[in-house]
Amino acid sequence: MRILVTGGAGYIGSHTCVELMQNKHEVIIVDNLVNSKESAVERIAAITGKAPLFYKADATDDQAMDLIFSTHKPDGVIHFAGLKAVGESVAVPLAYYRNNLLSTMVITDNCLRHGVNRFVFSSSATVYGDNQVPFLETMELLPRTNPYGETKAMCERILTDVAKVNPEFSVTLLRYFNPVGAHTSGLIGEAPQGIPNNLMPYITQVAKGIRKELRVFGNDYPTSDGTGVRDYIHVVDLAEGHALAIEKAEPGVEVYNLGTGKGTSVLELVKAFEEANDLQIPYSIVERRPGDIAECYADASKAKEKLGWVAKRGIVEMCQDAWRFEKSYEARA
Ligand code: NAD
Ligand code: UDP
Repeated sequence: MRILVTGGAGYIGSHTCVELMQNKHEVIIVDNLVNSKESAVERIAAITGKAPLFYKADATDDQAMDLIFSTHKPDGVIHFAGLKAVGESVAVPLAYYRNNLLSTMVITDNCLRHGVNRFVFSSSATVYGDNQVPFLETMELLPRTNPYGETKAMCERILTDVAKVNPEFSVTLLRYFNPVGAHTSGLIGEAPQGIPNNLMPYITQVAKGIRKELRVFGNDYPTSDGTGVRDYIHVVDLAEGHALAIEKAEPGVEVYNLGTGKGTSVLELVKAFEEANDLQIPYSIVERRPGDIAECYADASKAKEKLGWVAKRGIVEMCQDAWRFEKSYEARA
């Protein structure tokens, strides 16, 4: 298939492009590089031995998208493009609503105009809020505490409404849990700008000496060791889930959790990272981070039954691969 990948130069998008190209699909990347670099496209080419087509363009730009759709006539779209920093979304909500909602509407509209019937959307476990774990696709979406989460829930509703009146249209909503790790080549991975918000990139930066110590946000949660529990999933497993989702797309709406089904606490992840890479991560316990929930992990049985997808890579591989990428990433000290 010929697949248009918005946000394909980003962290999850770049790994998915590799997976799609290795499965013999043709890839067209659209990315405005607001949170990525064009070198990611060269690195995808280095891994796969073939350069994907790349457009530096904004997914909210209807005219630019119309031209790309009419030129390449894709068979399907995977829409990763979006802003994703929770804290920033509280500070500049309008920028988040504008970018994330408008890009989804423009890409969907182009799909309908150009007869593209496969649409895979990057959603997030954040839409479950503080439902009871493990999270199931059938659970009610709870009101969000931040604009980022709201944009994901709203995009899910928009796509569901569009699918209702377009019987040929296939929408797959993929709710990711906590993507970590990197491709084993060490060529692509997560390279946040500035101080990382997420746990794994913070740990790798402490390991590299860029940050002095990890701050563990709270050890008084009702969990085994008091620290927050998340379902960490290797980004290559996630990429494989996207390839299956677009290949097996059927008309109508399907929602899948992409997670391992296993929760890991902050301190368990720190220990796993230390053991996997034979180094020490200094840390101190600080106050809870506002808006955090105690536990978040998936019931991933639907993806197994209907897509034949399971997460194969464990915590040790996640830690080793994240560290291999951080070590070889030259752009920061
Ligand atoms: P990322 O920032 O690395 O990738 C997103 C890419 O989209 C970037 O390359 C950015 O430059 C591009 N982009 C943003 N707005 C754009 C626009 N208007 N037009 C064109 N390109 C645009 O983030 P990621 O971690 O790879 O996340 C990909 C998607 O998955 C996002 O929608 C994100 O919200 C979602 N998601 C991520 C996580 C996570 O923890 N990483 C979890 C759940 C969901
Ligand atoms: N966390 C932490 N220190 C950090 C970053 C995160 O203790 O510097 C904790 C956070 O409180 C949560 C877990 O690590 O319990 C995962 O946080 P992350 O931001 O990676 O994912 P999210 O909370 O969005 O699921």
